[in-house]
Amino acid sequence: MAYDFDLYVIGAGSGGVRAARFAAGFGAKVAVAESRYLGGTCVNVGCVPKKLLVYGAHFAEDFEQASGFGWSLDEAQFDWATLIANKDREINRLNGIYRNLLVNSGVTLHEGHAKIVDPHQVEINGERFTARNILIATGGWPQIPEIPGHEHAISSNQAFFLKELPKRVLVVGGGYIAVEFAGIFHGLGAETTLLYRGELFLRGFDVSVRKHLQEELTKRGMDLQFNADIERIDKQADGSLKVTLKDGRQLEADCVFYATGRRPMLDNLGLENTGVKLDKKGFVEVDELYQTAEPSILALGDVIGRVQLTPVALAEGMAVARRLFKPEQYRPVDYKMIPTAVFSLPNIGTVGLTEEEAREAGHDVQIFESRFRPMKLTLTECQERTLMKLVVDAKTDKVLGCHMVGPEAGEIVQGLAIALKAGATKRDFDETIGVHPTAAEEFVTMRTPVAG
Ligand code: FAD
Ligand code: NDP
Repeated sequence: MAYDFDLYVIGAGSGGVRAARFAAGFGAKVAVAESRYLGGTCVNVGCVPKKLLVYGAHFAEDFEQASGFGWSLDEAQFDWATLIANKDREINRLNGIYRNLLVNSGVTLHEGHAKIVDPHQVEINGERFTARNILIATGGWPQIPEIPGHEHAISSNQAFFLKELPKRVLVVGGGYIAVEFAGIFHGLGAETTLLYRGELFLRGFDVSVRKHLQEELTKRGMDLQFNADIERIDKQADGSLKVTLKDGRQLEADCVFYATGRRPMLDNLGLENTGVKLDKKGFVEVDELYQTAEPSILALGDVIGRVQLTPVALAEGMAVARRLFKPEQYRPVDYKMIPTAVFSLPNIGTVGLTEEEAREAGHDVQIFESRFRPMKLTLTECQERTLMKLVVDAKTDKVLGCHMVGPEAGEIVQGLAIALKAGATKRDFDETIGVHPTAAEEFVTMRTPVAG
């Protein structure tokens, strides 16, 4: 049978655009549907605007520290509306770039909500198109628990478009988004509380990193409330919010921001017209080739709930395009040693195993750790400290994990990730000459293990 398209991609986010562009480049006839915004979550309400806001928040400490270097300023003023307007302009520019990328690579762009009507057919804006393969790349959506008054809370989707910076913000959650946005609000001058239901935030990260960040955020004056959960939120006559915790305590805020994870975006997608199956958490179930239970339908990115990071969605998009249209170049995505950063203030950068994971996996570990006050701060009052940590296998000398909390941690860890991926040993680290004077050189000068 002749199909309208070889591949119909639903969702022009990180993974969908990558798969569509490369598939078209390999000679396939490709369409991509997008209902909301070109570039998806990362470009519009994720990585990019978030990083711009983090840069914005960072200036607060830059201004403070500048006086130690002889600079004097009148009191710095911050205008939220300017930051948001400039951010919006940049995102508009990126939307245009994504449009050009798709069109110039020969992909047909359909703007609207796509619904799968049968395993080879998609309906969009009242028209139907057939395709040999359909790729679900519809991403995720913030999930807010349905406690009484949850309608008064916002998620990251709204936070990027607030009309003004709230005076008092309560951030709920202990993952990437909660920690990053708490840093943004706090840095920009809001009275910020981070409320997390467990003992210590950032579950899954190395425990030294989690504790170090806890100390640094506390030093900066952020209110951290762990073992705390919200029972209800009530709007008061003056528009502020009264938050009642499960332990009976009450807090007041002008904005309650939930960052409690993301669900797969499957709304009105028509999966009931297919044999696609979902896993226990509701994400689309795929095999190692991103194939769903329906032979003609594939899925990738956040909607499959593996690793919800843009570079992972990109790698999966590339793998799908190659597998379908350039099988001789197909290489599976390697999910080991994925480096990642949390753009908290200070940043976290990490790659490889945490100390806890390494011990659990039966490694005989050696731990190297360094904590120091960055040189840039020596002329300032700021008491922030940086943490660097290496987890090493004592038997093979292989470096299993690198972890950092401090300025530019993400930038530094990206380079180290290549070394770890290539199987670097602690001896390779020791024999590497440092770049002086940098913070990063500390990673090649740690000689004495702090724990074995
Ligand atoms: P998405 O990028 O979400 O794209 C899915 C697209 O599908 C969307 O554009 C959506 O509108 C469209 N769509 C959905 N349903 C339909 C339909 N039926 N018809 C047509 N179109 C449809 N990752 C990082 O690596 N680094 C970061 O710093 C980072 N920061 C983040 C900050 C925030 C606040 C958030 C929320 C996420 C962040 N992420 C970050 C995660 C990253 O954004 C995602 O992992 C990534 O965008 C996933 O790509 P995707 O292609 O799977 O889906
Ligand atoms: P995460 O899954 O990272 O964190 C969710 C947090 O919410 C956890 O601390 C979790 O607690 C808590 N939580 C979950 N359910 C509830 C509930 N019902 N009540 C109270 N707390 C709850 O999700 P995020 O929303 O922060 O981010 C989604 C994903 O987006 C991330 O996992 C990451 O992959 C990606 N992302 C990446 C970024 C980056 O690369 N810098 C930045 C932002 C997002 P518990 O730990 O106890 O389960």
